[in-house]
Amino acid sequence: MSSTRIAEEIESLWAVDNHTHMARLWRGSEPVDFEKKASSIVQYLTEKPTIRLKVGGGALLPLRGFEYSEIIEALKILYGYSYDSLDKRYFQDLLLRILESRREGLAATYSRALDKARIEVALVNTPELRPELDRRRFKWVPFVDQFLYPLKRANKHLRAKASWTFERFERELDYVYQKRGQPESLEDYLSLVEKELREYREKGAVAVKVWSAFFRPLHFRRVDERDAVEAFRRYMSDKTVAEKEYVKLQDFIAWRIFSTCMKLHLPIHVHVGFGLANDVITLDYSNPLNLENLLKDRELEELRIVLIHGGYPFIREATALARMNDNCYLDFSWLPMLIPPRDLSFILREWLAWKLEDRILFGTDAVEAPWGTDDLLCVYGSRQARKALEFTLSETIRDHVLTEEEAITIAHKILRDNALELYRL
Ligand SMILES: [Zn+2]
Repeated sequence: MSSTRIAEEIESLWAVDNHTHMARLWRGSEPVDFEKKASSIVQYLTEKPTIRLKVGGGALLPLRGFEYSEIIEALKILYGYSYDSLDKRYFQDLLLRILESRREGLAATYSRALDKARIEVALVNTPELRPELDRRRFKWVPFVDQFLYPLKRANKHLRAKASWTFERFERELDYVYQKRGQPESLEDYLSLVEKELREYREKGAVAVKVWSAFFRPLHFRRVDERDAVEAFRRYMSDKTVAEKEYVKLQDFIAWRIFSTCMKLHLPIHVHVGFGLANDVITLDYSNPLNLENLLKDRELEELRIVLIHGGYPFIREATALARMNDNCYLDFSWLPMLIPPRDLSFILREWLAWKLEDRILFGTDAVEAPWGTDDLLCVYGSRQARKALEFTLSETIRDHVLTEEEAITIAHKILRDNALELYRL
């Protein structure tokens, strides 16, 4: 049986991108000098540096030959680049094409990227969704981590560990205080958080993101309210709070957030597994097994938890968690940027072996990188993810595990139907 049909189907399907950072906006961030940024990207692509960067920036660097070939394909699709190589001679041509692509403004740039990537709707994980974006196609996924760390003086060690993100979360909370007033008790604080979550929903949020594996273990214990009230009260009267007590308070706030999100039909996206964005995240913190108590909690049965990036190296733990808990979903964003499609297909195949096709979600995790703008990474990531899915499904058809019809239905589920249903789009 030929697998051409499955390949055509996967290529032509309009997908829902479960996790991207395209057009990301941090409150109070400096406007980017796009010309400078574009020229540094073109320089990277044409010089092909071999240095290993400590921070991955969307892919493992340095890039390999096959990645440059795939980037050329994405450049052709997005900018109409016409050469088959990346070479210093084409520096000006490519730079002008990238700059030209932004002339019509932000909304046109990003909608075109979605068109070229055959993505109908993208869930953008960003503190603020840019107002210019087409709301029918760009859906907001705000962070909730800023609410977990309300005791500023006690945040010192966290700030020292990961200043670049942590300070941004603190700034976000300051902004909320400016808007709603400084809370004087834990009760005040929790009511403020609930108001914010409701406002997120009203502004169109379809899920929220927990990024705290970068700062603390993802194990959120059920904590007695009195302990949390006490930690908050003690802090307000200007005494220090021990780290252990602070973690209890964080756990308590987290449970309140999850419970409110469940009522508001907001699934929780959790970064699980390894990370490259800073050297603080540990595998121990980010192990998805930390979430098991949450997934099994009867009161939060209706809460949907999406394991973002599939949880590598805990792929099997994530598989088992999803198999054992119907409220657990598996997203494979970012992986298409990191590993070749064939290698990603092994992971997808394992998920399908356990009949998890109703809970797998496609995503790109497109973000600015040294080798490309976020719109280029969107096109690139979408192509790599589809190739991986094509390998997986063609091989399962070949091995008589799935019929062609079953494989086509699964392609629809993974690329769009599961997300449409989960987020009620
Ligand atoms: Zn991400």
